Amino acid sequence: MSETVNTFEAQQQGRPTGPLVAGYEVIIGFETHAQLSTQSKIFSRASTAFGAEPNTQACAVDLALPGTLPVMNKGAVERAIQFGLAVGSHIAPRSVFARKNYFYPDLPKGYQISQFEIPVVQGGSVEFFLGEEKKSVRLVRAHLEEDAGKSLHEDFIGQSGIDLNRAGTPLLEIVTEPDMRSSAEAVAYAKELHKIVTWIGICDGNMQEGSFRCDANVSVRKPGQPLGTRREIKNLNSFKFMQQAIDYEIRWQIEEIEDGRAIQQATVLFNPDTGETRAMRTKEDAADYRYFPDPDLPPLCISEQWVQDVRGQMAELPRVMAERFVRDYGLPEYDVTMLTSHPHTAEFFEACLKEVANHPSAIASTTSQLAKLIANWMLGELAARMNKAQIESFRAIPVTAWHVVSLVLRILDGTINNKTAKEVLLPTMWDERLTHATAVDDLIEAKGLKQMNDTGALEAIVDEVIAANAKNAAEFKAGNEKALNALVGQIMKASKGKANPQQVNDLLRGKLA
Ligand code: ADP
Ligand code: MG
Repeated sequence: MSETVNTFEAQQQGRPTGPLVAGYEVIIGFETHAQLSTQSKIFSRASTAFGAEPNTQACAVDLALPGTLPVMNKGAVERAIQFGLAVGSHIAPRSVFARKNYFYPDLPKGYQISQFEIPVVQGGSVEFFLGEEKKSVRLVRAHLEEDAGKSLHEDFIGQSGIDLNRAGTPLLEIVTEPDMRSSAEAVAYAKELHKIVTWIGICDGNMQEGSFRCDANVSVRKPGQPLGTRREIKNLNSFKFMQQAIDYEIRWQIEEIEDGRAIQQATVLFNPDTGETRAMRTKEDAADYRYFPDPDLPPLCISEQWVQDVRGQMAELPRVMAERFVRDYGLPEYDVTMLTSHPHTAEFFEACLKEVANHPSAIASTTSQLAKLIANWMLGELAARMNKAQIESFRAIPVTAWHVVSLVLRILDGTINNKTAKEVLLPTMWDERLTHATAVDDLIEAKGLKQMNDTGALEAIVDEVIAANAKNAAEFKAGNEKALNALVGQIMKASKGKANPQQVNDLLRGKLA
């Protein structure tokens, strides 16, 4: 452990400089506590459910009654292995639990069981996009530990209470190298990490309830200088506050240095009401905690077979899935990032592609063309409707993959145009919760949404509109491209939106050539 800490400096060599703030380079490293989604605690059988009456979920082990002994929860170890596999880490075949000693009323044992010198998950990296740029943040480690209880300050009676329900809740603490160079990059990292732990299902990711808490270590330096002294912003539990807190901290540190004061290593808290960070305590060093191996727990041994078994049960990771979508369908980076932002979103997209094969209507279209159209509808119209209806998951939308594909295919084969699909067909599908297989075609028929394919009738409309808008026609002939749009608009209106816009365009250009 001390080895990794001392080599931070060396490991920064050769890494690109980030955007400078007032001539300073920003350096950020994260420590994230992800609460593991086990039913029971890491070393006892008490429940981990959130929100119970104080002290109803603290058993003798959590209360540190004499004579009790911790017993490792296998589910917590499995989740740590899953995480390690997801981020390409080394899973230590043998890791060791250690006691981190400190005194606090919500820590009845007087020490926290954690891992120190030999953590279970070592190395690995988290990869994500910051705008167009691919970033990779290296992980130092991820270790298992228990959470402490909570002190409840009941100001109205002037007393503090201790709730030990949270004591012994399993945590995975995920530590990065100081690889991030801006608050935006830090937030993008945190979002990606959040996506990974929720995707693989080891953590519910609920930030309000504290299931995913980030500590941001921030320092600044003039480019080329050694790493500056860091301050650690504790317990950031929203992405918005994370960005605000880091930005404030950067400006504060730069001002201090510019005013000739040295930065003191400290732990600070962010106050969302004032938007400021404030020192809580000067930072302890590892030596202050008097770490030593916990004699109550044997080393944690993980066989290669166990790792293989866990690997075999894991679903495809978002990053791998995203790469597959790019490879197989040629989708742009933005689309795949959005499609893999949640398992249910990816699931719906894949369900659509599967339904294509089940549709009897033969269409001359490549899979990648279809995939792009499906992605557009999902991320455009469907996402907008979900937003409006406050629906969070694609599992909860009132249209099925089959019907979305039916709609897309009818656009592709020219039966309906995009505009009608957006303005009439989809809203009706959404409201009516279609069930039977031919429902979309029935709707197109019943509502008379078919695109005008009768060239004669369309030509008549085109002629009428040209005659009635002689000025626009003349302007277009004189070289004003925009004047064509006005004519197209009029024709679409006259056809009640059922003309094929491409056909209208072609006809107009032909007649006005
Ligand atoms: P602890 O907080 O337990 O003392 P470490 O020394 O291992 O832990 O570092 C904690 C975090 O601080 C890591 O994420 C690391 O990347 C980050 N860090 C270390 N040095 C700096 C620095 N100079 N500036 C910003 N972050 C740093
Ligand atoms: Mg720390």
